Amino acid sequence: MGAGAAYDACGCETSDKSRRRVDVPRDGIYPASGPDGRKTLLLKVLQTNECGGDCAYCVNTCSRQTARAHFAPDELAGVFAKYLREGLVEGLFLSSGVGRDPEECMEEVLETVSIVRRRGFCGYVHTKILPGATRDQVARAARLSTRLSINIEVPGKARLSELSSTKDYGLDILRRMRWIGGEVKRGHVSAGQTTQFIVGASGEADSEILDVMGNLYEDMSLYRCYFSAFSPIKDTPLESEKPAPARRAHRLYQADFLLRQYDFSVEDIPVTDDGFLSLTQDPKTLYAQANPQLYPIDLNEADYALLLKVPGIGPKTATKIISEREKQKIRCTKDAKKIGVARKALSFIELAGSSQKRILEYT
Ligand code: SF4
Repeated sequence: MGAGAAYDACGCETSDKSRRRVDVPRDGIYPASGPDGRKTLLLKVLQTNECGGDCAYCVNTCSRQTARAHFAPDELAGVFAKYLREGLVEGLFLSSGVGRDPEECMEEVLETVSIVRRRGFCGYVHTKILPGATRDQVARAARLSTRLSINIEVPGKARLSELSSTKDYGLDILRRMRWIGGEVKRGHVSAGQTTQFIVGASGEADSEILDVMGNLYEDMSLYRCYFSAFSPIKDTPLESEKPAPARRAHRLYQADFLLRQYDFSVEDIPVTDDGFLSLTQDPKTLYAQANPQLYPIDLNEADYALLLKVPGIGPKTATKIISEREKQKIRCTKDAKKIGVARKALSFIELAGSSQKRILEYT
């Protein structure tokens, strides 16, 4: 059941570097980034891998010949309690196939989380909302969980209908995302709502994913997106398709950061004529190259949003620049480096009237 849950991203897949294998004490345990950025180990598990769904990309798709299993709620809550006692995990990530009856399966998931809470666990629980969950179930899940998610998988109705005849994009996914978003607005899900795309499963371009992300951030109180590069699974209808490059998911993670934390709009993110992010250069550097009129940016004058447009300056450094320059002007690259400005930024900034070229001479 741990292997079945492996396809759900939980926050440790955000960069090329962090995708390197991390040693975990036991199967089914995964490192994840918590909402505060702290790394934590989660028991990531399915309630059941039984599923009536026919999603072509999925390890649990109904036509696949594989052993099927199912946890009773008290049994799974007991496994989690044991792992907690042994100090192996600090939180729970609970997903599930939808069985023959999604509502019934969702009820079992809720009962598992409910037992975990009744036994006194107050820590991190990420609960997957199943397509077919009722509004009341979403509301109860919101009260029990730290984070809720439902996977959008692909950008748009037409894309999903190519891959699944059992899941409806509008009714099963977007409607439930909206319900979760309502619960987030009411303050019931402290770590918010997330979702996941399987990149490259439906022949989509990155620009389609970016457009949908932009809408989700606007309409659904979404905290963040995860991306999983499509990898063909044996005995599924897509088994002979090509895997998507992991670098593609990595670039989408970078674009997602630009949207959420760097004040970029979807239109700011550079894509190729056929709608793909570059695999060779990061989107922020490409943005800078495409907008030479904005640079060099004066570290002593620029506002927060403009500072964030400098490759090599992130939200933490931009905040520090603003607080430091209130005390004293930033005069040279040595001052800038002390504040945390990366070397990469030096060709895009201006300091105390020094030109870009002159600054480069100091490095
Ligand atoms: S409904 Fe969910 S678990 Fe079932 S096949 Fe589709 S994606 Fe997989």
